[in-house]
Order: sequence, then C-alpha cells, then structure tokens
Amino acid sequence: METPYLTIDLDKIEHNTRAIVDLCNKHGIAVTGVTKGVCGHPGIAEAMLRGGVTSIGDSRLKNIQRLRNAGIDTTFMLLRVPPLSTVGTVVESVDLSLNSELAVLEGLSAAAVLAGKIHDVILMVDFGDLREGIWPDDVIAFVREAIRLDGIRIQGIGTNLACFGGVVPSEANMGQFVALANELEQRFTITLEWISGINSSGLELIASGRMPWRINHARIGEAILLGCETIQRKPWPGTVQNAFVLYAEVLELKKKPSLPVGERSEDAFGELTGFEDRGKILRALINVGREDIDINGITPIDSRIDILGGSSGYLVLDVTAMEDNIAVGDELSFTLNYSALLTAMTSEYVTKHTLKNSANSVE
Ligand SMILES: *Cc1c(COP(=O)(O)O)cnc(C)c1O
Repeated sequence: METPYLTIDLDKIEHNTRAIVDLCNKHGIAVTGVTKGVCGHPGIAEAMLRGGVTSIGDSRLKNIQRLRNAGIDTTFMLLRVPPLSTVGTVVESVDLSLNSELAVLEGLSAAAVLAGKIHDVILMVDFGDLREGIWPDDVIAFVREAIRLDGIRIQGIGTNLACFGGVVPSEANMGQFVALANELEQRFTITLEWISGINSSGLELIASGRMPWRINHARIGEAILLGCETIQRKPWPGTVQNAFVLYAEVLELKKKPSLPVGERSEDAFGELTGFEDRGKILRALINVGREDIDINGITPIDSRIDILGGSSGYLVLDVTAMEDNIAVGDELSFTLNYSALLTAMTSEYVTKHTLKNSANSVE
C-alpha cells in the first residue's frame, strides 16, 4: 500500500462504542457518537451505530452531509453552534442543532417555517469552560424569548466542559445544570427531553456513581475513537486504544552525529530546536511530517524508536536501538492522540485504509 497510511479498525470502534454505551445506558444516559475527529467518516459512523449510539453528532455541516449522502439513516446533530449565514442549510440537513444565540434561533425559526419543518434545538449553557454557551444568569431571559419562536422546538439544554477552559465535570457543576433544567421546566411549563451533560471528560463521574440522575445524554467522540477518557487521558476500561494506527516508510537510514555541524540558526519552522549529544546515532527519515499530522501527537508502537523532530515532509527518528532490525523500505507504525488523528484524517496525503471483520481485531 502507498505510504503513509492510516488503518481504521471498524470492529474495534464498534467494540469501544459498546463499552461506553453500556456504561452510559446503565445510568440512564443515551449516547450520541461524535465523528468530527474523523471528518464524518461514514464507516466509522456506522460502526458507532452498530455499537449502540442513538444518533450521530458532528461540528461540521459538510461532514453531516457526507454521512447523509452515504445513506446513513439516523438522527444527525450539529454540535458547533450554526453560522447565521447558513440557517437554511442547517434546517435542511440536520435534525437537531446546539445553539446559544437568539439571532441564530430567529434565523432557524424563519428557515424552518419556510421549509414547513420543526427544527429541534438544544440550548447550550456555559458552566465555566468559556467556550460556547449562554451564561447561567442569562438563561431564563433567553428561554423566555426562544420559546416564542415558531418552527423551533427546545428539546433540551446542554453544556460542554473540558474543551477550552479544561473545566472538569463535577457533582457540583452537573448539579447546578440539573437545577437549572428543573427551574426552566417549572417556570415555563415545558419538558426538557434532553439534559445533555457531557463529552468524553464525564465518564469518570458516571463510573464513580456521582453523576446526577437527571443527566440523560452524552456526546462522545474521543473515548470511542481512542479508548480514553479526557481528564487524564487514561485508557478507559473495556476499550482498546489502537483502533487507528499510522504507518510510514523508512526513506533514509544513516549513521550521523546527533549534533548539527556548523553555525546554527532557526530551523525551517522558525524554531531553535534543542539537540542532545548522544554521539553517533542511527537515524531514520520517514515519509510523514507536519503537512500530514501533528508530529507531537504520535507514539511509536516499537519502543526502540525515538522521535527527534520533523519538518513538513519528514519525521526524523533515532533508531539506534533497532540497529540490525530496520531497513530502507520498512514500515514503522504509530498510535495517535486526538490532535494527530484529526490531522491525519484531514490530510489528503495520508491514505485511509479501513479494516473490516478482522478475525482477531479486539485483543
Ligand atoms: C467535540 C464535541 C463533543 C465530543 O467531545 P469528545 O471529548 O471527543 O467526547 C461533544 N460536544 C460538543 C459540543 C463537541 O464540540
């Protein structure tokens, strides 16, 4: 196969999905599978659905359209708050969107009325992470306006933590969230079907039994794709961490000094890289670089490989410890973090290779 390439093991993704969904369901929480880290890859969305998610969420309309065009039949949720300029397309292509601006809701309302549709929304509330969401003090006034809009149905409220401010979901903030939901229901005599509390950062709170019961919806991406929670990035029990593996090829293999020779200036990326004197080392150049992936987000599967750095097209490795076990043309493999996965998926230079029904897929 042409290198570099990324293998995508759909059985492992299905397996991971089932592990997360089982945990959430036991606590009365339905799961939306999030595909934004994999560019709305249809095979991955299908694996998530086989694993038990009840809908698919993505932050980009283009990804949702890709999934719809692939014939995937489920409820689609737009996770990033919609642009005012695109409300018509949102009403047309997604079943439910997350929202935080009245002007956008008004636009969605007009578009829905025009299309003769009802557009479902979840109102996002910011509990301190400082990304999207209405500040809690302003929610009552917001809802008072929002419930008057035709063509819009407020299906629930949501909050997103541990994304921008790194705020950890806790009994305290989830408790405030539930209290707010109860207050809205009483004050406006509405029923909020979804209290959408968490992403992959909330699994620990659920597993430890501290998640307030009223929380009944989770939007999960990373834990399914990479098999980890996102507070400490610990492997999540019952999941595997290698559903995605990156392969690149050794282009050059030479013994060279470990320190650059001559007067030094900035490297190609305007950085002054530090070098450690390891004497003469065996160095491998492989055909993946910053143009393809976040080079800080990959880990060699063979622990004898040490990544020294990279430029747009090369990654430079210290493979001294592999001395007699490596040759030009060999493929080396790497696991990826979320940032590396995202960049590998968006790079047109990385071939995507989907593995299906691999016999011993889940080890
Ligand atoms: C990305 C995103 C998620 C999923 O987050 P993970 O950490 O990948 O589980 C959930 N909700 C919103 C609003 C998002 O943008």
